[in-house]
Amino acid sequence: MKALKTLSILILTLLGSMTLQAQTTDSVDAVDYDIAVDLSSGHFLTGYADVTLRLLRPCTTVGLDMACIVDSVKVQGVLQSTNSLAELPTAGIAPGQDIHIEVWYHSTGYVESGEWGGMHFDNYLSYNLGVGFNANPHVMGRALFPCRDNFTDKATYTLRVTTKDGWTAECGGMRQSVATDTLGCEHSVWRIDQPTPTYLVSVSQAAWEHIHDTISSLYGDYPLSIGYRQRSESSVRAAFAELDSVVPMYERCFGPYRWGRIGYIATPKGSMEHVNNIALDQRFVNSTSERAQTTIAHELGHAWFGNLVTCATAGDMWINEGGASFCSEVAMEAALGREASDDYYRRWLESVLRTTHVTDDGYRPLHDMPHQYTYGSTTYDKGWMVWHSLRGYLGENLFYSALNRLMGSCAFGNIDAEGLRDSLSLYTGVDLTAFFDFHVFGPGFVDYHVEMTNPSEGCLENEVEVHIRQQGVGTTNLMRRNRVPLTFYAQPGFDSVSCKRVATFDGEETWETFSLPFVPAFCVLDADDEFSDAANVIHQHLEGYGISYTLPLAFMRAKTEHDGDLFVEHHYAQPSGTMPGGVVRTANRYWIVRGDWQADTADWGMFRYVRTGAQHEYAGLDGDFLSLRASVDSLALMYRKDSRHEWYAVSFTRNGDQNSGYLVVDGMQKGEYTLAIVDSAHLGIAHPVTTEVQLFPNPLQPGQALTVEVESEECFEVSIFDLGGHQVWHKTGCRSGQKLSPALAKGTYFVRIENNFISLQSKLIQL
Ligand SMILES: [Zn+2]
Repeated sequence: MKALKTLSILILTLLGSMTLQAQTTDSVDAVDYDIAVDLSSGHFLTGYADVTLRLLRPCTTVGLDMACIVDSVKVQGVLQSTNSLAELPTAGIAPGQDIHIEVWYHSTGYVESGEWGGMHFDNYLSYNLGVGFNANPHVMGRALFPCRDNFTDKATYTLRVTTKDGWTAECGGMRQSVATDTLGCEHSVWRIDQPTPTYLVSVSQAAWEHIHDTISSLYGDYPLSIGYRQRSESSVRAAFAELDSVVPMYERCFGPYRWGRIGYIATPKGSMEHVNNIALDQRFVNSTSERAQTTIAHELGHAWFGNLVTCATAGDMWINEGGASFCSEVAMEAALGREASDDYYRRWLESVLRTTHVTDDGYRPLHDMPHQYTYGSTTYDKGWMVWHSLRGYLGENLFYSALNRLMGSCAFGNIDAEGLRDSLSLYTGVDLTAFFDFHVFGPGFVDYHVEMTNPSEGCLENEVEVHIRQQGVGTTNLMRRNRVPLTFYAQPGFDSVSCKRVATFDGEETWETFSLPFVPAFCVLDADDEFSDAANVIHQHLEGYGISYTLPLAFMRAKTEHDGDLFVEHHYAQPSGTMPGGVVRTANRYWIVRGDWQADTADWGMFRYVRTGAQHEYAGLDGDFLSLRASVDSLALMYRKDSRHEWYAVSFTRNGDQNSGYLVVDGMQKGEYTLAIVDSAHLGIAHPVTTEVQLFPNPLQPGQALTVEVESEECFEVSIFDLGGHQVWHKTGCRSGQKLSPALAKGTYFVRIENNFISLQSKLIQL
């Protein structure tokens, strides 16, 4: 399912006869539901359900969940004296025997407090959504029929639907019959023969327009129906065109589509993966936008992740929703190719690393998710990242063949995280305990810092030693049985030569030696984005000639004079190593700039900063680092060549304002960069003397005027600080070449020149 982002608070409809059964009683199993709903009024339903339950253990009563008003109840044909479904007598029924419960009921539409899940009667459309975001439990079959409403009790269904005159029904299952009566009302019968949980059962009616087509795939030809209103047929067809390649890809990866036919209907509230009858956000039904296409793919992906193999508890919803979101990536690969799907994944990884722990109030384990976060970003987005990583961890062939087996052996069943771990371990022969411990049962991410430790020039027989260090992000756990893909690139001039090796290790750090077919110039961590670690790797081919490049996912811009290949790793983790005195704190992220281009003094790099809480598309970028109280004047750009060198502050110009912008460094080098807040007493560290400011005369004689020369036509502010960081003189509206009279006591000072375009500093001695 996927909600619209606007969930409003609402009126809670309380129904006298509503009951919610505890999910703990496994003394009974729902076998089959035969449901007749009359929707001919367009505003309410009258229903009749014949529910077949099988007793599993001796018990005196069974209960059904219901959110409609019950008119009468029969148990084994005997009319009951009360309309409560909470305690229905089972006297005379032995374990293993079936019991028939008949319920007559009506409803004007029950909707959960999130105003999402439930039975909706809109003016032009009646439909149900089988899950509620706020409902507890989240399943909402009970808005449509009396049932054992949970994720795990799967049954078969017959749906008999009477529509409003002139309207037609679209429901779950295969349509068995249809007829229209003299009043113009349609009577149709639908059958779901596959064991299905209650939340995936759906009915709908509207004056639908239809597209009927067939999807030819690996294991069969599947009828496709799309119900929509007020759209051009060609635009709807275009929106679903990719299914021709997506369905075969899904079958290749996950095994046969087991639901007989594929159906979508356009509904106004968001999207929901009902069996055979996906409710699709109506904005997407005629859209080829990325959001529309990935939603169409996500909901169909549920035909495997969730509908076929269902999470055993809502606390493992990541299996359903993370799996379905992973399907969107697989679908994009089928439709547009691997480069497009890698790019899509990379953009979401960046967003997950930056925002998921903010929207979900912290780094959360996927497993055992608290109720209010069941449908949060961790479940959907981190869940997707973990499915993606599992593919990288196992390799594609092993991963997909194991998923094929899982979907077969567990078809129409339920699974929890432990069961998933054990099944996939069994099918692959790879012990996934460590992987699941870190990524599923623990919170956060792992960040890998990788560098070659021996100078490539001197190495024998192209042997290279690599140092890898891991640190947790949002966790103090360490990942065990790490599997880190490394790509080595040859010396400049051989830039098409690369080779890949995989380092496997335990513990916080390791030194690994690899034999390569060439002398490597540098190596890049996870260059193919196989794994959702805490870094994005951005590759930019450089044309030379001073062309500048924007690398939005690395929050960086760069210009180089020479050609080659630039790789930027943008890590959402604390930089390692000791910072020099005066550094108050460092950002929760750092960059590693690598590549084979020849650095030039005319090169530059721009490194983005965004204040916490600023109105900005990347509002969460700097977390608590650049807090409301910190001035961007205390921002410094730290650099080190690699972990064997010390961090130091580099000179920069600031291109931006108090809320966001870039720190621009001329003569950008390969190595590591990060942002820091420095103590005002150490401003000199943050802003070393630059050549762009010239002070005359310097030293300054008593009584002499000071001239500041800067390459800028704009006005600027001049601030003078003593060595303790205290401002001793300040003047606005200055221009280059203007004579200033600061009247300073004897001593050493820093003079800062600043406007919207520059922030420069230089040392001044007053004699
Ligand atoms: Zn979903």
